[in-house]
Amino acid sequence: MKYLLHRVFNVGSFFPTLNMPQELEPDLVDAILHEVARMAEEVLAPLNQSGDSSGCRFESGRVLTPEGFKQAYDSFADGGWCGFTGAPDYGGQGMPKLLSVCLEEMLFAANSSFALYPLLTSGAALAIQAHGNPSLQASYLGSLYSGKFTGTMCLTEPQSGSDLGLLKTRAIPRQDDTYSIEGTKIFITGGEHDLTENIIHLVLARLPDSPAGVKGISMFLVPRQLLNENGTSGANNQVKCGSIEQKMGIKASATCVMNFEGSIGYLVGEPNQGLACMFTMMNYERLTMGSQGIGLSQYAYQVARDYALERRQGRSPIIDNSGSEDASLLADHPDIRRMLLTLRGNLMAGRALTFYTAMKLDVCKFSDDRDAIESATVLVDLLTPVVKAYCTDRGFEDCVSAQQVLGGYGYIKDWGLEQCVRDARIAQIYEGTNGIQALDLLGRKVVRNQGSSIRILVTEIEEFAARCKSHESLYRKASVLKRSTDELMSLTQHLVKLARSEPAAVGVAAVSYLNLLGTVTYGYMWLQILANANFDEEQINGENYLEGIRTAGEYYFDRMLSQVRFWTDTALAGLGPLLAMKSNQL
Ligand SMILES: Cc1cc2nc3c(=O)[nH]c(=O)nc-3n(C[C@H](O)[C@H](O)[C@H](O)COP(=O)(O)OP(=O)(O)OC[C@H]3O[C@@H](n4cnc5c(N)ncnc54)[C@H](O)[C@@H]3O)c2cc1C
Repeated sequence: MKYLLHRVFNVGSFFPTLNMPQELEPDLVDAILHEVARMAEEVLAPLNQSGDSSGCRFESGRVLTPEGFKQAYDSFADGGWCGFTGAPDYGGQGMPKLLSVCLEEMLFAANSSFALYPLLTSGAALAIQAHGNPSLQASYLGSLYSGKFTGTMCLTEPQSGSDLGLLKTRAIPRQDDTYSIEGTKIFITGGEHDLTENIIHLVLARLPDSPAGVKGISMFLVPRQLLNENGTSGANNQVKCGSIEQKMGIKASATCVMNFEGSIGYLVGEPNQGLACMFTMMNYERLTMGSQGIGLSQYAYQVARDYALERRQGRSPIIDNSGSEDASLLADHPDIRRMLLTLRGNLMAGRALTFYTAMKLDVCKFSDDRDAIESATVLVDLLTPVVKAYCTDRGFEDCVSAQQVLGGYGYIKDWGLEQCVRDARIAQIYEGTNGIQALDLLGRKVVRNQGSSIRILVTEIEEFAARCKSHESLYRKASVLKRSTDELMSLTQHLVKLARSEPAAVGVAAVSYLNLLGTVTYGYMWLQILANANFDEEQINGENYLEGIRTAGEYYFDRMLSQVRFWTDTALAGLGPLLAMKSNQL
């Protein structure tokens, strides 16, 4: 993280270009990272396996989190981490998203279940800060930032998942400018728990006579307990948890059925603009989910690498075994190196991509430069579905590969990797499935604007690659990357044209297109990483860390970027059979 922040993205020059509430000198950045790491290692990681084993319990409408979670949450909140990116006017720390993604990755790596409680709270606070009226902001933001309250997002209903236009929860106006909320939400993360005195739900619901579909959705703030005049939590607000789900992973995160039985709600934002308000939250959350994929694969990588450096099996064909009776280290077998280098290739580029996108979000939030904000907005829109889907798909696959490095032990609970695989799986599903992310990318962010957004990104990549060509060690990589962007652009033009005559073209090509763009942007990140490495001098932690990065980068360009061809070829392959197949023949 420090290498990327200081050497690749040069935060020492970047932060001063922004109008942030506080100055962030490089030393302070490092101190923050170390403090987060300490908390993740000492407070959260020790509860990861025990939380998975015991899970949450549901008793008479109450949800009990696993032993130790309440104390860990209190110390997390006391450390001021709940308001890390919050508005300083209400007690938040006003930190940039770039540092927040570091925090998020470490939390997910240490304890994904725990991470969800405060991270959803940050998203809810963000939506209230952006769209709530001053009275709602004054009543709730302080307690969300201090960690006294947590927040949720309540979208999903039994009949309404990816298609929010189908949601039925109703908001009936009362006489005092409040609303009576009635309906059932399912799969609500942190909908009920015992960590805080109050829980603040952001609920999507329909006003009477609102238009059908997504145009008729509004957002409401519904506290579990109503607030007293003095801001303390008071009477129950008819918000009831019906049950919690038994699920594959993130078992210490409560996934709740929530019944709103005439609960009092406050409108957030304008009527019928609820989806736009929720997207303020979800754009941030989707980036956060990318960090879940990366955090978990980072953890898995560490376990697998350490194991491969201790376990001995067979004789390696790549080192000199003569004179030794010992079996070789796993780390010296080509196939084990293949898995570890693939993990490293994805991890470093994926982390760089979340940092890059977070920097664009910071420009949107803190810059005064209108041109910079305009282009950053385009890139955030374009890259958010890529980070969400590509980083979590790679994250899951990489956790499986790490498990494979351990052979049979990878399947055994004690080593932690089977939990890692189970925990990583959800990130591909929630916050909009990865299939839906791909449709959003190709349909709304590429085809709808005739490829103009992707052109902005590709121009930036090509200009950077052209500059790198003057360096001998980068010439070949820059040339391969340029060929990849050529393929990306010709496929884009083809799809934009095809979509005019073939309505199914987007649906058929979307996932391949997202993977293609993910592969190319990871290549761009690797070129940035390699271009900024000073391989001769620098030693980090006394190891030849940079030499390892250089070799992992070589591997990405030699073996992983070639997937561009595969994804380009598959983007439209199979269109005929896919359209010809009848549903009842599947
Ligand atoms: C552990 C967990 C925590 C969650 N937390 C929350 C939460 O805090 N708040 C909340 O509101 N929700 C939450 N969810 C719900 C989650 O966001 C939804 O499950 C997800 O968005 C998918 O909706 P669905 O399950 O109804 O699947 P469906 O929408 O039924 O989708 C099923 C499959 O069909 C595909 N599909 C759907 N529509 C299309 C289409 N138009 N074109 C092509 N393919 C399509 C999907 O990609 C998917 O593969 C959570 C879910 C889980 C499991």
